[in-house]
This record gives sequence, structure tokens and C-alpha cells, in this order.
Amino acid sequence: MKAEEPLLAGVELGGTKCVCLIGTGPGDIRAQTSLATGNDPGATLERIDRILGEWQAVHGRVHALGIASFGPLNLSRGSPTYGFITSTVKPGWSHTDVVGRLTRDRPVCVGFDTDVNGAALAEQRWGAARGLGEFAYVTVGTGVGVGLVVRGQTVFGCNHPELGHVRVARAPGDVWPGICRYHLDCVEGLASGPAIAARAGLPPPEIPSDSPVWELAAHALGQLLHTVVLATAPRRIFVGGGVMEARPGLLIQVRRRLRESLNGYLGLDELTEGIDRYVVPPGLGPLAGPLGALALAADACLADPRATLSAR
Ligand code: ZN
Repeated sequence: MKAEEPLLAGVELGGTKCVCLIGTGPGDIRAQTSLATGNDPGATLERIDRILGEWQAVHGRVHALGIASFGPLNLSRGSPTYGFITSTVKPGWSHTDVVGRLTRDRPVCVGFDTDVNGAALAEQRWGAARGLGEFAYVTVGTGVGVGLVVRGQTVFGCNHPELGHVRVARAPGDVWPGICRYHLDCVEGLASGPAIAARAGLPPPEIPSDSPVWELAAHALGQLLHTVVLATAPRRIFVGGGVMEARPGLLIQVRRRLRESLNGYLGLDELTEGIDRYVVPPGLGPLAGPLGALALAADACLADPRATLSAR
């Protein structure tokens, strides 16, 4: 059966590293590699383009390319800047034409969305969100992002949601300014990997597990989840990303902070006794992000059946 499935390529552009992969799904990844994102998008996209070209020569024609990127992104098809990273906080990457560069010499249909939306769709297609129409995927890494699926689809209106930048109630007595270039003490400015490192004066792997810095990050993330629960009523919340993977105990702290913050409001089992089954790690683990790019490619095939027809 696998021979009949379209061959897909995926590129996950993260704040620290980019992951490229080719295959048809989690059980059939034929090649995977990663490279530093860096601050020179021209050079990075050139290297990715070369990797994709080399793989295509070995594995055959790719039917669709999925690009799951840190944002903000322009996702409005028809806009002259569709496919661009727009006003990002990442140095060097503002106003970068990602889709245009990676499809310039490659006539494939393309799926393009945020890294968190991609990861959410991968969980829905292959992971722990199968059968769920409403859920949230939160990543805590170089940035903080939230992918929202409502009625089976990612949310998109004038733009994609950017809940990592919501302002939240501060922990009592905490006056540390935060590091977001736009908002200082939004969630990303308080609880992303760089924010945690800046507050502690140490890289996250070297911060002691009993450091108060973790409780302060958990407080901000608990506040974010408080907003996500009340705004979108997800059936489950997946929390992943490099910071969460490096420190699994943080998820326990975040659950406790969410429960304390909601303070019994709504009275749902999911938000009290059942919170351990409601706020959970991604089913696909660290592969949720890279597989998000493949999920976007798979959806692009469905959206444009010519992609598979022309290859037969
Ligand atoms: Zn911000």
C-alpha cells in the first residue's frame, strides 16, 4: 500500500534549527536531517533547497512540500506576500519569502502554515489527537506558540492566532521585565527558552530543578492555558517543544498553575481531578514538529489532487 501513497517532503523551520524530511508518514521516513536556522535566511534556504533536490534525485519525485515555520506568517493566498515570514522577532528573518524560495525550481503543490498548526495537524492525523475536533497544541522552545484546531481545522481569519504573545497576570511580586521585543512580558517574553535563560543567567539545561525560575515560567504558561481553555474550550491540550522535553517536571508545574488559576471555575473533571489526562505531552513526542511539515504536505495533496494525479 505504501507504494501508492504520495511521496512528501517537509521542512520545519524552527527558531533554533530546521528539520527536513522526506517520506509518507511517521512509519515511512526515508531521510531526515537538521541544520541551524541562523540569522541569514538566504543561506539557510539555499541549503534546504539543495537537500531537497538531492533527496528528490535519490527517492523520486516529491508530490507535495509542506513548510511549517515559526511566525508570524502571511497565509493569505492571493496576497503578494503570501508565503512570507513577516514581522518576526527572529533577527534577519523578517519579510522572508520562504514559499517562493523553496518552490522556485520545484513545481509541487505546497502546504504552508505555522509550526504549531503543523504539529497540531500531525497529532490529529497520526498522533494522540486522532478523532478530536477541538484541541490545542502548545510549544515552549525558542518561542511560545499555540496551534488551535476547531471543528477539525486550524483557526485562520485575518491572520493565524499568536497566543504565545498574550499578556498575562504576573506572579505576585514578580517585576522582572521580560524579553519580548514587542511586548516585554508577554508569555513568550516570560517563559520561552531564551526568557528562562535570561532570567536565570544560565542555559535551561544548567538551571537547578528547584530554581524559582521554573515556577515563574510555569505561572506564565498556566496563565496562557487559562486563556486557551476559556477562549476555545479545547477537548485536550498538548504541550511540547524543546523546553518541555528537556524538563518534563515543568508540565506538572504548569498543570498545577492552571488548576490554581481557574480555581474551580467551570467545574469540569478535565480541569480538576482529570487534569493529568487533559494537559499532556504530544503523542508524537519530539517528532510532532517535523511531522507537522509532512502533515501540511499531505493536506496540500488533498487540497490539490492534481499533485497526485500528475505523478501517476
Ligand atoms: Zn510578545
